[in-house]
Amino acid sequence: MAESLAEAVSRRRTFAIISHPDAGKTTLTEKLLLFGGAIQLAGEVKAKKDRIQTRSDWMKIERERGISVVTSVMTFEYNDVVFNLLDTPGHEDFADDTYRTLTAVDAAVMVIDAAKGIEPRTLKLFEVCRLRDIPIITFVNKMDRESRDTFEILDEVEQKLALDTAPITWPIGRARSFCGTYHLAKNEVRGSDTEAQTTPVNGPQAIADRLPENERQHFVEELELARDACRPFDREAFLEGHLTPVFFGSALRNYGVRDLINALGEFAPPPRAQVADTRTVQATDEKMTAFVFKIQANMDPNHRDRIAFVRVCSGKLERGMKARLSRTGKPMGLSAPQFFFASQRHIADTAFAGDVVGIPNHGTLRIGDTLTEGEDLVFQGVPNFAPEILRRVRLEDAMKAKKLKEALQQMAEEGVVQLFSPEDGSPAIVGVVGALQLDVLKERLQGEYGLPVSFEMSRFSVCRWVSADQPGDLDKFVTARRGDIARDLDGDPVFLAQDGFSLRYEAERYPAIKMVAIKEYH
Ligand code: GDP
Repeated sequence: MAESLAEAVSRRRTFAIISHPDAGKTTLTEKLLLFGGAIQLAGEVKAKKDRIQTRSDWMKIERERGISVVTSVMTFEYNDVVFNLLDTPGHEDFADDTYRTLTAVDAAVMVIDAAKGIEPRTLKLFEVCRLRDIPIITFVNKMDRESRDTFEILDEVEQKLALDTAPITWPIGRARSFCGTYHLAKNEVRGSDTEAQTTPVNGPQAIADRLPENERQHFVEELELARDACRPFDREAFLEGHLTPVFFGSALRNYGVRDLINALGEFAPPPRAQVADTRTVQATDEKMTAFVFKIQANMDPNHRDRIAFVRVCSGKLERGMKARLSRTGKPMGLSAPQFFFASQRHIADTAFAGDVVGIPNHGTLRIGDTLTEGEDLVFQGVPNFAPEILRRVRLEDAMKAKKLKEALQQMAEEGVVQLFSPEDGSPAIVGVVGALQLDVLKERLQGEYGLPVSFEMSRFSVCRWVSADQPGDLDKFVTARRGDIARDLDGDPVFLAQDGFSLRYEAERYPAIKMVAIKEYH
């Protein structure tokens, strides 16, 4: 019997992993896929000392293991729950990509290195999640190494993130003696995730057996203190973003991963309602709606295709259906949507609210676009960040200026760079959030378009989107400062300034003009 929309929605969990580089996101991703039954692996990932920074950590997994998981989303089914795990680039130079991906998830797993605690990237990504009220499950990783005191780690999360903690499991032993976790609510001992399936071990005796004698007493005392001092898990508080359940483990040594998967199924919310300009869309609304949060080119090097990743927000998206693209009002056939079920057994034809689908296209879809079944509606909130670096692109072969223009337009539509066309007709300026994005741009212009380029400093270093309550005020500003105004991809005006000082100066001179560093796609 076909599954009802409400049933399908209720068993979906769409999430991402946030962490500071090296905390173990890639390893944990791999183990989630492994224990979630999505992939079969043997052996361990050999970490390379000087790993090349890629846009996707999953590319790394593929390179190192020769498995095909290169995509921005992986769907797997475990215990009747459908998980959609979205990849986020590890490197901060691709932060804008990560922030946009976080608009497409309903929950996040925060991975913390047990020795390092909350690191800067974790904090930053946590703040983005908090802005969007995304509930967080914490995984304290690398318990097999020298780590901080467990209470200290919990305390740091509470202090630095202003977030209540509720440990669900408690580590048994430390570093070399680490041998599993104790489930506080279920009073069960968890050994390794590989053994847990076959030999469940329960009761305090099992703990005592596992720990060296001189650590047993300490563990028993600590556990008592934990029971007395720690907060119990409160799902409401978790869903509202005030409390995080905490799990301990070692992704590398296979500890704590199964409990984490189970927690995602049990605690994490089903697909959330999404705010659009005209109304709030419920996941269980019958009509399909979706928005594009990411574009990826060249998934198949033989085709110049682009895949637009859409998050389905309501209803179901089916192969062959006709959708309406809100930006243009034009219809669009979804003839070959791609589904990302990890297991080859599933050939999916339908995606439900919460799922992520890849839509191949030749440039019709842009980041932030909304698709509907006809309704004129636009989802809010996919952010665009003012670039930190502005450059002019210098072409080595001046004859290819037109081709460059086209290529840059495409790269901008994919979100690789932002493109600003100055009002005075001078050559376009590209903007990026991190320097590595320039490397990607250079590489792709050369590799895909045969355009060798270099970058030149521009006289501008800061930019802000400008608007005004009275259109007349904006017109006046744009006319007065024509040499410092450019248009972005959507034709929205951007004010370019030499530095932060002159930006503030102009902002004071023109109080009617709003200058913002984040633009939401609309
Ligand atoms: P990412 O940068 O967050 O994706 O981190 P990786 O998953 O690539 O891990 C960074 C390094 O930490 C690698 O050398 C991993 O093998 C190692 N690592 C990851 N998880 C663990 C763990 O639980 N214990 C130990 N000892 N090392 C780990």
